Parts: sequence; structure tokens; C-alpha cells
Amino acid sequence: MSSIDAKELKEKLFANRKSGWENLSDEELKNIFQFADEYMYYLNNSKTEKEIVQSSKEILIKNGFVDISEKEVLNPGDKVFYINRGRCLYAAVIGTDNLENGFKVVAAHCDSPRIDLKQSPLYEDHGLGMLKTHYYGGIKKYQWTNIPLSIHGTVVKPDGEKINICIGEKEEDPIFTISDLLPHLAQEQMERKLKDGVQGEELNALVGSIPYDCDEVSERVKLNILKLLNERYGIKEADFVSSEIELVPAFKAKSMGFDYSMVAGYGQDDKVCCYTGLRAILDTVLPRKTALCVITDKEEVGFNGVSGMESRVFDTFVLELLEKTGNTKFNSLYKAFSNTQALSADVDAAYNPNFAYAFEKNNTAYLGKGMTLVKYTGSRGKSGASEAPAELVAELRKIFDEAGARYQACELGRVDKGGGGTIALTLANRGMDVVDLGVPVMGMHSPYEITSKFDVYQAYKGYKAFYNK
Ligand code: MN
Ligand code: MN
Repeated sequence: MSSIDAKELKEKLFANRKSGWENLSDEELKNIFQFADEYMYYLNNSKTEKEIVQSSKEILIKNGFVDISEKEVLNPGDKVFYINRGRCLYAAVIGTDNLENGFKVVAAHCDSPRIDLKQSPLYEDHGLGMLKTHYYGGIKKYQWTNIPLSIHGTVVKPDGEKINICIGEKEEDPIFTISDLLPHLAQEQMERKLKDGVQGEELNALVGSIPYDCDEVSERVKLNILKLLNERYGIKEADFVSSEIELVPAFKAKSMGFDYSMVAGYGQDDKVCCYTGLRAILDTVLPRKTALCVITDKEEVGFNGVSGMESRVFDTFVLELLEKTGNTKFNSLYKAFSNTQALSADVDAAYNPNFAYAFEKNNTAYLGKGMTLVKYTGSRGKSGASEAPAELVAELRKIFDEAGARYQACELGRVDKGGGGTIALTLANRGMDVVDLGVPVMGMHSPYEITSKFDVYQAYKGYKAFYNK
């Protein structure tokens, strides 16, 4: 066989593992970079789950979606949404097919690892004002020290008044930080295992140092901070009890690399899928199957709770869709779920050349090679996973190939190295066919995660094609 024939045969039989950046048209390149700019704008304007829900709601309203309570009856093409307690969002475009025949769901999560304040956070230590914290989600704690942090959150007073706080995002704002020990004195600390290098109770943020001007009282720095907070927000120390306040990285999302090919930014797990899912449903006008976009909370802590994917509030929204389209039989909900296809839109680990040993090179995701298609998650023998049926994966391959949306099949790292789960499980338990489809992320759960602009755009294309098939 000649070398030309062998080359042809290889081209025909081998899976495509080339970089997605190769052979792109000028138009496609322009689209990829423009989409990434819009995505970074979204990231910079919304860092917490509530802010993501708020920005997403504004985008939906601008594009003709209305709150489902405003509609008595729903018809094909109608666009509605429901906000669950400000932390979770469900949006739908009604399809031409009967809803009992199933939906097309793209479900992403808006919560990201971060540092939450404890309920009695403020204290003073030798003239320094400090905040006690309790981290949220799986983090490497040492990564969260000595970086600029901003404070975001809500304080709810007993009379129901809600006060939103956001300090550290504007150029003129102060920032906060958790200070690590200097290397000169860290001999003992350096002997700790990396996981204990900085411990949970050492994640205290430094937030002030000027004492209140009267030496008759104690804890004058704490007093001065409370006075400032009281003047600006009208709150007292006891109000922290009914607050949700988070410390998140204060830096902005930025293009990364000499070639601008990547995005570095906080919380891309899983805001990248929130944004691409949202943009995909905006481009879904009159689908055959009703399109559902879910932006859920609490994924990072096990998807439970009233705003997590386990919440029956989601089922209640779907029941309302069914009822308002005339499907009122007692089993309509489960029939619809059983006929539904869902994409658990979540990120997967991208190969990191600095830690090559953690990845199995044939089955890992690479930046710039497209969406991540993850048939199963879990750890140690696929434990705790829902595995996608091959039939669903085959159908999706056809959809993505036709749409020119590049994907790569992968799993999270080497077998028995660790693992993780997604909301795929809870969707599958409701009776849906589901597979994980997201974007590869390098440095996942760190304060500054990395994605490829190529992959971000493929996720948008993929979700759009899925909704519109
Ligand atoms: Mn995630
Ligand atoms: Mn995560």
C-alpha cells in the first residue's frame, strides 16, 4: 500500500484529535472571539449565584421571555421563565410537539467554589479587624490566600428589608485578602501536608485596622468597622446571622495567552455553561420539543436544597408548563420526564502539562479540542454516577456533527485518582436520558480558571443544535 493510501485510510478510520483552531474560516474566528468577549462581560458582571441569576434574567427579559405567572395559557413559541428564590432559574421555549413527549433540557449550575462568611464573622485581633469564614465547595485552600477578594452578598433584616453588598469590584473600591504566613517563619507550616498547608480556621480575611476614636471602650477596630457598615448599610453585628455573604476573587476575567486564545476568570465552573446554555435558548425560536434551560444552585455541595437540582421546585415549574399547555393527567410529569433528553451542562478537567501524571492521555479533555462529552462521572468504579446510554450519545454525535460543533469524549483524570459527580444523576433519576456535556477547564475550582475560547463557542453551538433538533 502506498503512503498516500495509508494516509487516506488513517484519515478515514482514526478519530479526529486535531486542534479545533486549525482550518477555521475568518468568519468562524471572528464569531469565536466576539462570543468570548460577551462571555467575559457576563463573568465580570455576575460572580455569585444570585448575580448570575439576575444577569441571566435581564438577558431573558431583553429577549422577550416573561415570568410564567404572566401567562394563563402557553402556546408553541411562547418564552417563559421562573426564578426560584433568586438563586436558581428555569427558562422554557414551548415547542410544537406535545409536552408529554418530552423536553430538551440543558442544565448548568451558577454556584462556584468560594469563601463564605460565618454567621458571627467579625472579630478583632491585636488591632486588626478580621472575618471568620467557612469555605464553600471543594477548594485547595492555600490557593485562596494573598489574592484580592471582593465581598458580595445580601443581608436580610428582621423587617424583611434586603440590603445588597458588593465591595471590591469597582476600580475605586477597597479589596480584602486572607494573608498567608511569610516563608521566613513558615518552617513548621512547610512541613505540613499540602492539603493542610492552610487550614479551614486559618482562612480569616483581614478587613480593617483603624480603631474607633475613643479609648474608653475595648475592641475599637471592630467598633469602627461596624460603625462604617452601619452608616453605609444600616446593619448591626446581629444582622450577619440573616445574611449570605461571600468572598470571591476580585480580579476580572481576561483574555489569556500571546494569541488571546483562552479566557482566565473566576467561576467558569460552571458559569461558562450557564452563559452558553442561555445564549443557545435565546436562539431557539420555534423548536419541535420544548426547550428548557436550567441554571441551578448548590451543585458544588451536592445539588441538594431548595435551590439545588434535587429541588421539587423544578418539577413544579415543569408541571406548570404541562398544565398551561393542557396536559393535566396525573402522570403527565413523569411521562414527560421519561421522554426527555437532558444535557448536564458542566465542565470537565482539561489536561495540564504541569501535572501530566494525573491524566490518562487517550481519555482526557484538551483545551481547544471542543466540548467535553462525558458518558459517566463518579469515582472508583464509576461509583455515584449515572451512565449515559450509548443510544443517546449516538444521537448527539449526529446532531453535533451536522452542526459542526466539535466535541471530545473524555473522563475526569486517571482511574482511581479521584473523581467527581454532576447533576446528571438527579436528572437521570427523574427518568431522563442524560449525558454530561460542557467545556474543558484547566485549574478547575481555583480562583482563576482557564478555558479555551474555541471550546466555549462549541458549547454554545452544541446546545443550540441540541435544542433545535
Ligand atoms: Mn461544575
Ligand atoms: Mn465544580
